[in-house]
Amino acid sequence: MENFLIGRRAALIDMDGVLYDSMKYHTLAWQRMMSELGVECSRDEFYLYEGMTGAATIDLLYQRAFGHGCDPEEAKRLYAIKSEYFKEFGEREPMSGADMMLAALGEAGLQRILVTGSSQLSLLDSLEADYPGVFVPGNRVTGGDVTHGKPHPEPYLRGLEIAGVPASEAIVIENAPLGVRAGKAAGIFTVAITTGPIPRGEFEKERADVIFSSMPEAAEVMMKMAKEI
Ligand code: MG
Repeated sequence: MENFLIGRRAALIDMDGVLYDSMKYHTLAWQRMMSELGVECSRDEFYLYEGMTGAATIDLLYQRAFGHGCDPEEAKRLYAIKSEYFKEFGEREPMSGADMMLAALGEAGLQRILVTGSSQLSLLDSLEADYPGVFVPGNRVTGGDVTHGKPHPEPYLRGLEIAGVPASEAIVIENAPLGVRAGKAAGIFTVAITTGPIPRGEFEKERADVIFSSMPEAAEVMMKMAKEI
């Protein structure tokens, strides 16, 4: 594998499923909230929507169930309910190995920028406690900062702006197929890390530049690469 950290100045890093082992709870919370509206949905389908904003996810399910989108104010209310359920499901769990990956990126001299579709404050507010000193205040793009969520390239383009680097000098770290699509659409070298039930083939379809089968594997390889620079 080529050392993809050489010549890079910024890493644009997704949150759910990368920094937190949170997707299992998000999928449960989504299914519970939508089921209460009488919308049939499977828990697993939410893994495929990962990266979209809450409003976009609600809109998609409304279209399918009712043949029309969801009023933005109503979507906000529903997303708040989903966020409450997510909090109820328990403690946040930092992803095993993510701290080592962040350390490797820092050692290689890359700025570390958060780029998430989430507006879930229970996790965003915990980043400093769980990953102290990694994400400089202001170095984050969240669901509320963009007009178009992933898979649109806007979140990652905003990340490049914050970092002040061209696409060729950045990498994207993602765990979701739609997130990989967004990174590639922004013209950025995109690293996919499998941390949930999504099969490798989904990341190949989205043309991920590198695919790791776990976070500890990704962290170990990146630490080696950092030491080679
Ligand atoms: Mg993710």
